[in-house]
Amino acid sequence: MEAFTPLRPHAKTHLVFLFFYPCLSVNPCVFTETCRYPLGMSSGQIQDEDISASSQWSESTAARFGRLDSDNGDGDGAWCPDIVSEPDDFREYLQVDLRSLHFITLVGTQGRHANGMGNEFAQRYRIKYSRDGKNWVGWRDRSGRQVIEGNKNAYDAVLKDLEPPIVAHFVRFMPITDPSMIVCMRVELYGCEWLDGLMSYSIPDGHQMIYRGLDVFFNDSVYDGTLAESRLTKGLGQLTDGTWGLDDFLHSHIHGVWPGYDYVGWSNKTFPKGYVEMIFDFDHIRNFTSMKVHCNNMVSRGVRVFRQVTCYFRSGSDWEADPVTFRPPGDDMSHGAHFVPVPLRDRTARSIKCRFHFGDQWMLFSEVAFQSGSAVYNTSLLSHKQGPPANTPPDDPTHKVDDSSTRILIGCLVAIIAILSTIIVIILWRQVWLKMLEKASRRLLDDELTARLAVQTQAFSLHHSSLSSVGGSTSMYERVYPLRADYQEPSRLIRKLPEFAQSSEHLGKLRQPGGSDSAPHYAEADIISLQESSDSSTYSITAVNMSLITGADSSMREFPREKLTFKEKLGEGQFGEVHLCEAEGLRDFLDEELSAEGNQESLLVAVKKLREDANKNARNDFLKEIRIMSRLRDPNIVRLLAVCVDKDPLCMITEYMENGDLNQFLVQCEFCPSCDFLFCSYTQLIGMAVQIASGMKYLSSLNFVHRDLATRNCLVGKNYTIKIADFGMSRNLYRGDYYRIQGRAVLPIRWMSWESILLGKFTMASDVWAFGVTLWEILTLCKEQPYSQLSDEQVIENTGEFFRNQGKQVYLPKPLCCPDGVYSDLMLSCWRRNAKERPSFQEIHTQLMESVAEQMGDA
Ligand code: ADP
Repeated sequence: MEAFTPLRPHAKTHLVFLFFYPCLSVNPCVFTETCRYPLGMSSGQIQDEDISASSQWSESTAARFGRLDSDNGDGDGAWCPDIVSEPDDFREYLQVDLRSLHFITLVGTQGRHANGMGNEFAQRYRIKYSRDGKNWVGWRDRSGRQVIEGNKNAYDAVLKDLEPPIVAHFVRFMPITDPSMIVCMRVELYGCEWLDGLMSYSIPDGHQMIYRGLDVFFNDSVYDGTLAESRLTKGLGQLTDGTWGLDDFLHSHIHGVWPGYDYVGWSNKTFPKGYVEMIFDFDHIRNFTSMKVHCNNMVSRGVRVFRQVTCYFRSGSDWEADPVTFRPPGDDMSHGAHFVPVPLRDRTARSIKCRFHFGDQWMLFSEVAFQSGSAVYNTSLLSHKQGPPANTPPDDPTHKVDDSSTRILIGCLVAIIAILSTIIVIILWRQVWLKMLEKASRRLLDDELTARLAVQTQAFSLHHSSLSSVGGSTSMYERVYPLRADYQEPSRLIRKLPEFAQSSEHLGKLRQPGGSDSAPHYAEADIISLQESSDSSTYSITAVNMSLITGADSSMREFPREKLTFKEKLGEGQFGEVHLCEAEGLRDFLDEELSAEGNQESLLVAVKKLREDANKNARNDFLKEIRIMSRLRDPNIVRLLAVCVDKDPLCMITEYMENGDLNQFLVQCEFCPSCDFLFCSYTQLIGMAVQIASGMKYLSSLNFVHRDLATRNCLVGKNYTIKIADFGMSRNLYRGDYYRIQGRAVLPIRWMSWESILLGKFTMASDVWAFGVTLWEILTLCKEQPYSQLSDEQVIENTGEFFRNQGKQVYLPKPLCCPDGVYSDLMLSCWRRNAKERPSFQEIHTQLMESVAEQMGDA
């Protein structure tokens, strides 16, 4: 029976790799450098049903979305596991079933970018693999390290050479997770099909040679099975790693390894019978024509090719009686290390046991490969994979692997390489030209933009002296361009910023505000503050809701909705109305001490209801907000008490904050040094900022990025207690604070850092930027919108100036009641161009506390 399995078609389409790894024809050669075909995560050749995971954060971040370079489909751009309770426990994994054994030399990982809406990635991960789906092995590099450095951002793919490569049917990517962090991954595997079918080999442990005082180790250092009683069993290792040794066994292809590294070897002194026994187990019964053994042959150092080999065959439980014996032709010292072909005479077997007899004191092997049917099965001999022509006589013991067909193949490869080199040179040459042209046009464009912004800056500085005093930007340019008709088109403006060129995909989506009033109501404010973007076309309320809501987390318990008594409407948000309700028995239900209005049993709560006509995106985001809030517990974060998600309308029950949102609260306030009701003193205002900083400090300790910190998203309770809210949405009321993207999503650009706007980067440091703006709002009692004199387009242009950092950026001015120190040391430091130079929330909190202490001291 012909056992040969061709490479998958997609593997053949990536011949370009051969160009980069031309050593195929050079001897000695390293096969791992040619076997690097993408195995089909990106291209979709690997089917959705073959990708699974330990858990998923939501239906839209299921395992099937974990495909490298694939942002499309109905998902949220990557696989994201659920948050785990124990840090670094490697419990979470994304599993790929390759449907057959593969030789894997390279892996690639990427985070969740989702066109700038995601910023989750795995900084470190491990790999586990299995050949039978039952026994799993943790991959280790040649130094024994298991942890692989992963991604540094959400968009770049990071490739990692698996040194040593692995032979696997199933591979698991195991991100290092943290209870507080959402980690997302997209992956690809590179390699080729492992046609040998060799599942494991069993050999005696290698020996150590002392050569002129030098320790030479011939152990199988990458063997992935077990070692017991000086025998290695149930694994694969150096004999199948696609790397074969040099003539001088003291040297190696691999950098920085010990002498003898490439070889597994034995001294005849410990084998009284004069032979070394090896057993090879295969995936199924095969028809073997030959075996090729790469042997060292340094006769001068007592190393020689085996003198004789006798192979036994087993298809069932017993070894067959008639072995095949073969004696290699007499070699001499002129032969270096080489493959010795051993004919196996079309014997059928699932296991082969070979006894290699010493030809000298030492016997050193670096690779063993098998040919079943008419094909060579060890992919490490890819160059010979075509097998002999149909009329080729059976394997001849003297047959050498370097036959004429190899030469023809090499000739073809050289021709392909030459063609590819020409194409690449042409492409590179074109790119250099384009770059030069682009540079020239960008210089022109920069001048134009600078001049424009100078004009605008001048214009609004005339109207608003405080702004201009901070920005300090006056026209210093001789060339002044009148505003053209297209000026109001923000996407064009942004596209002209040099930084836009870096992130054209992200910013290319910006469009004019108000340009799509027909966009759905809900769509006006999604994506902003969630850690994930919204969407799940496969969302189903009954099934998924409960799986999302019922988890290990007790804070997400279902509360009987009939026990909620409506009192009054508190407000309306994107999801629907927020009601003040009395929750009967909630105190007992929560089984904890809660201070609240109302009688002993009932509790006043705020109930946020999802409007009944909400689409599936809104439902999904509503549930995501529940998931996020249920995991947060801090005095300055609004607490989710319970949920009602058994049927429509979905409700979340949160603690009631008597004084509504901070923006509305402050708008009604007047500033006075010593405060009364509706009058706020500096100390009270800064006390509010301290609480927000404290809440943010908690979020940052969890690596949680809020993305939409602003006074409108903070709530005020009794005694000026402030709590951060809105982990999902913004509100209609504040529509003007947001800038529309693609009619679907909007961005709070006046609170966003330059890198969030231009590069789509949301980090703790961009939250710090938003905190600076929030502090500014507080100290101006929310009497005006940040940069109120600038249009949205001008705000974005100003962002470009922050990026250019030529001193032309306009900062928010110092609020009247703000001490100089708080403005210059704190507020301005939140808006530093370099995100790393911005203070942490810990530092902000401390600084604000000190400011409060100072004020108290003064008073
Ligand atoms: P959404 O997130 O759907 O946009 P919000 O959470 O912003 O809705 O709520 C809308 C309004 O309801 C808020 O401006 C506030 O006045 C009121 N509100 C929301 N939650 C509470 C609460 N826990 N306590 C008191 N009022 C609240």
